[in-house]
Amino acid sequence: MTTADNGFADLGLRPDILNALTTLGYEEPTPIQSEAIPPLLAGNDLLGQAATGTGKTAAFALPLLERIADRIGKGEKPLALVLAPTRELAVQVSEAVHRYGRHLGTRVLPIYGGQPIGRQLRELSRGVDVVVATPGRAIDHLQRGTLQLGDLQVVVLDEADEMLDMGFAEDIDAILNETPAQRQTVLFSATMPPRIDRMAKSHLREPVLIQIEREKTEPGEAPRVRQTAYLVRREHKPAALGRVLDVESPTAAVVFCRTRDEVDQLTETLNGRGYRAESLHGGISQEQRDRVMARLRGGTADLLVATDVAARGLDIEQLTHVVNYNVPSAPEAYTHRIGRVGRAGREGVAITLVEPRENSMLKTIERVTKTKIPVEKVPTVADLRARQLELTRSSLHESLLEDDLSRFRVVVETLADEFDVMDIALAAVKLAHEASGAAADEEEIPEVRPREDRPRRDGVAGPRRERRGPSEGMTRLFLGAGRSSGIRPQDIVGAITGETGLKGRDIGAIEIADRFSLVEVPGPAANDVIEQLRDATIKGKRVTIRRERQPR
Ligand code: AMP
Repeated sequence: MTTADNGFADLGLRPDILNALTTLGYEEPTPIQSEAIPPLLAGNDLLGQAATGTGKTAAFALPLLERIADRIGKGEKPLALVLAPTRELAVQVSEAVHRYGRHLGTRVLPIYGGQPIGRQLRELSRGVDVVVATPGRAIDHLQRGTLQLGDLQVVVLDEADEMLDMGFAEDIDAILNETPAQRQTVLFSATMPPRIDRMAKSHLREPVLIQIEREKTEPGEAPRVRQTAYLVRREHKPAALGRVLDVESPTAAVVFCRTRDEVDQLTETLNGRGYRAESLHGGISQEQRDRVMARLRGGTADLLVATDVAARGLDIEQLTHVVNYNVPSAPEAYTHRIGRVGRAGREGVAITLVEPRENSMLKTIERVTKTKIPVEKVPTVADLRARQLELTRSSLHESLLEDDLSRFRVVVETLADEFDVMDIALAAVKLAHEASGAAADEEEIPEVRPREDRPRRDGVAGPRRERRGPSEGMTRLFLGAGRSSGIRPQDIVGAITGETGLKGRDIGAIEIADRFSLVEVPGPAANDVIEQLRDATIKGKRVTIRRERQPR
């Protein structure tokens, strides 16, 4: 595909940016991008309601780059600032800005708590174009005079509702007060509570409003589709997909991916795992496309891995399953995709793999489509084995009913002289099972929790949960004193903030048991916290402190 027929070209982005998108394999703008990019390029402020997974990062990052393009790489002070609630998001956004802006030579710096401040100081003094920061760390730098906002042309508040929930309202006000009045301001939020309205009123000028939830599904219109979602971490997605496919054993399935690269990579991975997958995306010629379709229709391929664009107008009679390898970027895309199965009264299956951060987008889809999409556990190795045995059993059952087995009788009779008939049957089942190609997949895929269910700081007295791994990016420390020594969460927060450079809000969940406590701190700061607290006292007592031993 050349840049000319890339759907982004119509939005008015420059070739350097379009080329980056082509390299990334983006084939067309997502709905939020089509709606947000033109008004942002025209210089308007914007208030957008959109969750992660909609493509909102590119929706603000592309026009941001366009706006500052002529001054990139020239000055020292940042031209654009993105505020994000968590270190995780700050890193993601800065990577995205880096990818989109690489041909422009954009210098991007993420700054967040928990990372040594020295490195950030060095980078800032060398000059950066775009800073992506958590509000707390941005305030630190402002107070040190190391972050100067006088040249800012664009400010983005990303996941503003989360930032307010985390108590950053005042920090955000203070930061915005340091920025030039004529800046462009963009606010994205997954929800629009009154507090967000107030924030928009005080910091945005006649913003254009954008919401991605629009489609109303008429009752009764929904196709007969069994819908299921599986929550998995990104690194386990190929394995989880394989497992789900093994258990579902579809006649024919389409697996939807976001980009061309993802399509190519996943096709390769699936073929490597013994599936017969073909890829279809905008970079594929009509001739190849016809060949792929013929293979699918003729049953020599079972899986089609495709982008939305490439799958448009595709009608496959045998299709039983639609798989969303990511949560689609809009409810409309979800409805459209799953509408490809469940036709003509046949039951279809729609499967969605959800990364923890995409959970809120799944909720939006549920709300808009008015359907509950149950989140199920990825089948375990034991589930898979049980399913494979069931398949072997049913093919034996079919053979017993339908095949003429008389020519095998002599084999059974001869063996029966020596062995019990039951044992002979067992050996025959074993061979049949193995010959069916049942994969000996041993890899267990870990269960994960959605992001919003992670314990917050005040999770101490919250509902009892089974203890699992620490939140992403955090390390859990063990303290050898608990409730019986009168320790309260605020004592732990006080000790850590008093002895280290961490702020209260850098500290994660705290759990207090009778004789010990657990506290989450940002991973890179863990050693420092241990070091500093080793000689300190909590409630007048020296307390053992070490990394928590991982439960087996
Ligand atoms: P976001 O909602 O910004 O977190 O984006 C979700 C994911 O969609 C990211 O992995 C992006 O790289 C990807 N993405 C964003 N825009 C597009 C697009 N137009 N085409 C394909 N993928 C996209």
